[in-house]
Amino acid sequence: MTSRVTPDASAAAAGSTPPTASTPVPPPTPQETASRRMLTGDRPTGKLHLGHYVGSIQNRVHLQHEFETFLIIADLHMLTTRNTRADIDQVSQNARDMVLDSLAAGIDPERATFYLQSAIPEVSELNTLFQNLVTVPRLERVPSLKEMARDAHKEEMPYGLLGYPVLQSADILCVKAHVVPVGKDNHAHIEVTREIARRFNHLYGEVFPVPELVVSEVPTLLGTDGQGKMSKSIGNAILLSDSEAEVQRKVRGMYTDPNRVRADIPGTVEGNPVFQYHDAFNDDKDEVAELKARYRAGTVGDVEVKARLVAALHVFLEPMRERRAKYEGQSGLLDELIVDGTDRTRREVRTVVGEVRSAMGLAGTWNQLRRKAEQARRRRDA
Ligand code: ATP
Ligand code: MG
Repeated sequence: MTSRVTPDASAAAAGSTPPTASTPVPPPTPQETASRRMLTGDRPTGKLHLGHYVGSIQNRVHLQHEFETFLIIADLHMLTTRNTRADIDQVSQNARDMVLDSLAAGIDPERATFYLQSAIPEVSELNTLFQNLVTVPRLERVPSLKEMARDAHKEEMPYGLLGYPVLQSADILCVKAHVVPVGKDNHAHIEVTREIARRFNHLYGEVFPVPELVVSEVPTLLGTDGQGKMSKSIGNAILLSDSEAEVQRKVRGMYTDPNRVRADIPGTVEGNPVFQYHDAFNDDKDEVAELKARYRAGTVGDVEVKARLVAALHVFLEPMRERRAKYEGQSGLLDELIVDGTDRTRREVRTVVGEVRSAMGLAGTWNQLRRKAEQARRRRDA
């Protein structure tokens, strides 16, 4: 699978500058490449799964060589749907698991900077400032938010969840990221980010690059139940850290074509998660084509199709298991990566938020008041 940087034309049209789609960007110079950044990440709600991999991690692994890479552990975003004390108490372990999953998937700890969102309060400051650059009806049109509210059994939309894309904009823009590889459920959020960046630049001067969405070849991976996207919260996920036996058990229990009660009845490949997984993870394309043809003709059973998928997933996951074992053995490595990465990111974010405060005139207001107060104090004390 290859990554594609896709400027979103509809988002661009909503802003004040012409769509990027009509203005091809020349390839960056080596110096620009060194300073161009990627930001993406995950909520620390559990271990990473195949959906995270195809939606985003795979592109991260490619793009880390081209872009300075920031990977957020988005615990403030977790709070939009899970905010009990028990949820929060799990964040540190979930964060370690996520970082380990990322390293196992091929993220290079020398290249990528992992950071914990809530440990950088300037991100929340930026979120507050950005809240005035977007309207409530605009956010109400973001489809994923309603889905997340429904999946989290929320009867009414929490204020923080409605603002999810605004906080995400603060994450992306606080390091002035140029590219954001995310799965389909996040695409509309990046449109909001592009609008906020343009609106900010229009009102206060050019501070932010307008980041580009990087779409993956499989924007949404179905869950093993075939009901919707693979999600930890729904319990239909195959984890990157699952053992061979767990993968086998989960694949055997997978939803296929519900109308196909016997192996000699022609089956449907489209929308069938077993075949979506074959397309995504089975490198033997001839085998996949042959299985599809036989499935459509009613000459292969689910058992064989699934057994071949288990074998393909084994080939895909085995190198990850090897890398995982290597990193697992290094005590404290994950904590150190998160802490050092957070310190480093906070320094970057402070610089950007300083620029934002200056551009908006907030720094000027405060400095003026402080100067006058100091002058008054000096006059009084003289
Ligand atoms: P879960 O519901 O399993 O907790 P999530 O949606 O909360 O997962 P996030 O941390 O919000 O996971 O998403 C991290 C990244 O992974 C995002 O870019 C998201 O689009 C992508 N992603 C998550 N699930 C899938 C999926 N089933 N298919 C494609 N991309 C996905
Ligand atoms: Mg999500």
